[in-house]
Amino acid sequence: MEAKNIKAYGTEAADAPLKQLNITRREVTAKDIEIEILYCGVCHSDLHTARNDWGGTIYPAVPGHEIVGKVTKTGSEVTRLKVGDFAAVGCLVDSCRECDSCKQDLEQYCLNGATGTYNGKEKYLGTQTFGGYSETIVVDEHFVLKVPSNLDLAATAPLLCAGITTWSPLRHWKAGKGSKVAVVGLGGLGHMAIKLAKGLGAEVTLFSRTPDKTKDAMDLGADAVVISTDQDQMKSVRGKFDLIIDTVPYVHDVNPYVSTLNISGTLVLVGYLGELEPVLNTVPMVLGRKAVAGSLIGGIAETQEMLDFCGEHNIVSEIEIIKIQNINEAYERMLKSDVRYRFVIEMASL
Ligand code: NAP
Ligand code: ZN
Repeated sequence: MEAKNIKAYGTEAADAPLKQLNITRREVTAKDIEIEILYCGVCHSDLHTARNDWGGTIYPAVPGHEIVGKVTKTGSEVTRLKVGDFAAVGCLVDSCRECDSCKQDLEQYCLNGATGTYNGKEKYLGTQTFGGYSETIVVDEHFVLKVPSNLDLAATAPLLCAGITTWSPLRHWKAGKGSKVAVVGLGGLGHMAIKLAKGLGAEVTLFSRTPDKTKDAMDLGADAVVISTDQDQMKSVRGKFDLIIDTVPYVHDVNPYVSTLNISGTLVLVGYLGELEPVLNTVPMVLGRKAVAGSLIGGIAETQEMLDFCGEHNIVSEIEIIKIQNINEAYERMLKSDVRYRFVIEMASL
C-alpha cells in the first residue's frame, strides 16, 4: 500500500500538549476520496481522547472529526464526488457494511465495530486512524458527505459531530411540532440541539448551570431557560418534557432531570460515558413509563439528511475560528465551558 507523509497536530501522551507532528495517510484506493482539510471543529471528544479520559487512546493521537474540505483526488471507482467539490467527514470512516446495523444505515452501531475517524484501526496501513487536525484525509466514498452549497463552510464543520449527535435522537424520538424538548448543557452539542429541535418545530427549553448564557440560548431559539442549580426553577418544569437531550460530559445527577419528564418521556444521554452517581432512582421511571437512554452520533444516510435539512433551513454552528497553534488554550477554555459555542480550526494555519 502506497502512503504519504503529511503534517498534523496531535499528542504523544495523555499529559502532553498537542504539537505539530507527521503522520502517514494511505494513497487513494479505487473507492477512496482524498480531501484537503480546510476547517475542523473541536469536539469535547477530541479532548477526552487526547487526555485518555475514556482509556484506550493510542499515541500519537491526532483528534478531529468535524471535517470539511475540498476533494483533491478520487479513486477509479468513485462516483459520488469529483475533484474540486466541497466534502465533509464526520466521526466514522469505515464499518463492515454487512451486519444488521450497517444494513439499516446504522453504521455507528456496526456489530463488527465501526472505524472511528481517529483512534480507530486503519485497515490498510495497520496503524491507528488519525483525525482532522491535519492537512489531508483519505476516506472511502461511502463515508464522505456532501456539503450544501449555501452554508458557510467553517460553520458547517461542527454539524458533522455536534449536529448529527443531537439530530439522531431528535429524529429517533420523533421531535417535531407539538413536542416539548429540553437540552442539558449549552456547549457545542447543546447549541446545535436547540437549533435543530427548533428547526423541527419543537418547543425547546435549555437546562444550564450558567445564568449568563440565558440571552444566547434565547437568541439560538430556545423558548425558555431553566438554571439547573435553582430548585424553584427546577420544580416549575416538573413533568413537562417529552424528550431531554443531556450533553453534560462528566458524571452528574440525572434524577432531577428525570422528574421533569412527562409520562412516557425519555432522557437521552449523549455526553457522559460511565456509571451514574448518585444512582438512578427507578421509581419515577416505573410510575411514569419514563426512560433513560443513550445515543451515539448517527449513520451516514442520516448525517446527509441532517446536512440537507440544515441547508434548507440555513442552520449552522456558532463558531470561533482559531489557529491550530491555539488548540491547547482552546481545550482549557472548553473545560471551563467558555466556548461560544464551537471552536473551529482554520487548517491553513498548520
Ligand atoms: P462542550 O462544548 O464542552 O459542552 C458541554 C456543556 O455541558 C458545557 O458547555 C456546560 O454547559 C455543560 N457542562 C460541562 N461540564 C459540566 C458538569 N461538570 N456538570 C454539568 N454540566 C456541565 O462539549 P460538547 O462538545 O458539546 O460535548 C459534550 C459531550 O458529548 C462530551 O462528553 C463529548 O465527548 C460527548 N459527545 C458524544 C457524542 C455521541 O455520539 N454520543 C458525540 C460527540 C460528543 P452549561 O454551561 O450550559 O451548564
Ligand atoms: Zn465529536
